[in-house]
Amino acid sequence: MNPTVYKMPRSSSLSAKPSAKPSAKPSAKPLPPKPLPPKPSKARLAVVFGDQLDLDAAIIRSLAPDDTVLMMEVANESQYVPSHMQRTTLFLSAMRHFAAELIEQKIRVNYITLDDPKNTGAFETEIARACAALKPSEIVCTHPGEWRVMAMLERVRDSTGIPLRIMPDEHFFTTGEEFAAWAKGRNSLTMEFFYREQRRKTGYLMEGSGKSAKPTGDTWNFDKENRLPFGKQGPNPKPRIPSSFKLDEITREVLAAMKRVLPDLPGSIESFAWPVTRKQALASLNDFIKYRLANFGAYEDAMWTGEPTLYHSILSSSLNMKLLNPRECCERAIESYESGNAPLQSVEAFVRQIIGWREFVRGVYWLEGPEYADRNGLDQQGKLPDFYWTAETDMACMKACVGQVLDTGYGHHIQRLMVTGNFALISGVHPRAVSDWYLGMFVDGVDWVTLPNALGMVMHADRRPNATKGVTGLVGTKPYAASGKYIERMSNYCTNCKYKPAERSGPSACPVTVFYWDFLIRTREKLAQNQRMAMILKNVDRLTPQIQTQITIDANLLRKKLGVTPM
Ligand SMILES: Cc1cc2nc3c(=O)[nH]c(=O)nc-3n(C[C@H](O)[C@H](O)[C@H](O)COP(=O)(O)OP(=O)(O)OC[C@H]3O[C@@H](n4cnc5c(N)ncnc54)[C@H](O)[C@@H]3O)c2cc1C
Ligand code: SF4
Repeated sequence: MNPTVYKMPRSSSLSAKPSAKPSAKPSAKPLPPKPLPPKPSKARLAVVFGDQLDLDAAIIRSLAPDDTVLMMEVANESQYVPSHMQRTTLFLSAMRHFAAELIEQKIRVNYITLDDPKNTGAFETEIARACAALKPSEIVCTHPGEWRVMAMLERVRDSTGIPLRIMPDEHFFTTGEEFAAWAKGRNSLTMEFFYREQRRKTGYLMEGSGKSAKPTGDTWNFDKENRLPFGKQGPNPKPRIPSSFKLDEITREVLAAMKRVLPDLPGSIESFAWPVTRKQALASLNDFIKYRLANFGAYEDAMWTGEPTLYHSILSSSLNMKLLNPRECCERAIESYESGNAPLQSVEAFVRQIIGWREFVRGVYWLEGPEYADRNGLDQQGKLPDFYWTAETDMACMKACVGQVLDTGYGHHIQRLMVTGNFALISGVHPRAVSDWYLGMFVDGVDWVTLPNALGMVMHADRRPNATKGVTGLVGTKPYAASGKYIERMSNYCTNCKYKPAERSGPSACPVTVFYWDFLIRTREKLAQNQRMAMILKNVDRLTPQIQTQITIDANLLRKKLGVTPM
């Protein structure tokens, strides 16, 4: 692609020159020309971030011919938490493709490339620079996906004195106000209740209408049927390799710019094949509906070596960048059920992830405020072990799941929750160290979705300071802590591991199992208030004090060896 496409068309306000108009009283010595006062401008600056690539968004529909869209590739966004090569490439390439589409529609675009010599490297200074050049009457922006970005926009407004208008993000089913109204007065927020409301509201998989509406198949939730492991033979049918997309010229230009400006990002770029345009994202959606949706539900929680995708949709990055709309994803899945191509248990599971979990975690993020990120309900302080960055470990499960993240920027939900997440939880890593890793290392990492998943669902760290007794978390009613036996049941990772998942002492003791018991011992007092933990904690009480002490000693040694030392 011709790089000039990123150059902003010259606007009249930029080309206005100081005038040397003669003064009313001629004088012998002409006065130096006075610069004209800035022309009052009605033109607006529409800021579009990399996770707002929706051609149909309200902000794009509202553009007038004089408005300028500002899009910025800034190094800081890949550095404030280390961002996987594939994540940065995906965002920047999708942004460049999007900008090209805007320009095709004759929309004025001021696109700041990563290696533009004038690029100051941060959103705040780039927006201020554009404001100084264009003198817009208003800055407009779709509601950003992060508290940090919202605060930055407000700082720009205050420092430039230019009014800021935040436009609603129409991509979601639920507004912040609607979620707050639903959550009001609830001590703990249970996703399942929220999900049922969403089903009623959307009418998805519902029979009848009004108060008599019932869930299709008379069941709200097929979660229990959806926890099947694979047999010894592994996945059957063999998952088809998902459609992938070759690097085009724009993506190659992005890579060249990254090499110059961001040469040290983690992860590998070799396998990059993510959709970078809406057309490609739609092809990805078709591929999932046709070939993987039918088996999605039953094997949602299963894992298998060398099968990174299994029957998952791998649509999260396209959804989060707004290349796909969640409505079209749900409706395509429902059509597939109605035409007899996918069973209800799979379609319900997929719809639940999108109108349930995805909307729920976003609601929590905006409801709880920026302080949510600082919660550490279980008071865990450890550093993230180095192998999260290298996959160099003798634990087969961690090697497979971290290795896959380094190679592709992707892991499916159970790999995130029950392998990399579980290990961080039970070994005692600081919740923010974990959530930063998830935010930067996955191609779909965006704060509103990463944080409640990592800090809330995985780390069980998000108890509200004023929560009533018995409530130990917000997103999860209890921690998802598991021993190596869970991983053995749901995957084949343990088959080729030097450790034994059932052993908690001795040279073959599985570190996951050692940390599991240590976690229960360490957090016993805190979790004892939680009724859902009562049965599990009884198992701790059955251990003799000597065994408990030995587990604590072994876990401390392991923490030292792995570097889970206080931050
Ligand atoms: C620790 C942790 C961190 C996570 N970080 C992110 C993140 O940064 N970005 C992100 O999009 N998802 C995140 N998730 C949620 C979920 O794991 C991913 O959305 C999913 O694995 C993406 O793969 P997929 O598209 O194949 O999803 P599928 O399994 O095919 O699910 C379909 C869609 O449902 C949505 N979805 C499913 N589960 C969740 C969930 N728990 N929260 C929100 N949406 C969900 C996603 O949009 C996903 O594309 C995280 C989960 C955990 C446990
Ligand atoms: S034995 Fe333990 S460390 Fe090894 S793969 Fe199984 S769960 Fe992981």
